[in-house]
Amino acid sequence: MEANWEKELSCASQCKRCHKPIEDKDQRILSVYDHQPICMQCKKEEEKRPDYGDASKQMISRCMQETNKPYGDPASYCFHHFCPFKCT
Ligand SMILES: [Zn+2]
Repeated sequence: MEANWEKELSCASQCKRCHKPIEDKDQRILSVYDHQPICMQCKKEEEKRPDYGDASKQMISRCMQETNKPYGDPASYCFHHFCPFKCT
């Protein structure tokens, strides 16, 4: 997951939630539930879910174990569940 996340996820051309097309220049972000790239609109909906806080915490601790990188390292895909990014 960590090794190929950029290739697999960062340049997704479609939101996995609403199937809206995402242009390369559009910001996208990863879901804390399934790690799929979603559009900013869907992220707002996701944040409203009552279990979002718990899901986020679980995701972060799992992610840090898997990658051995501190949360907040922009090179780590963990970071992009909370920080929008663009296809580069
Ligand atoms: Zn969407």
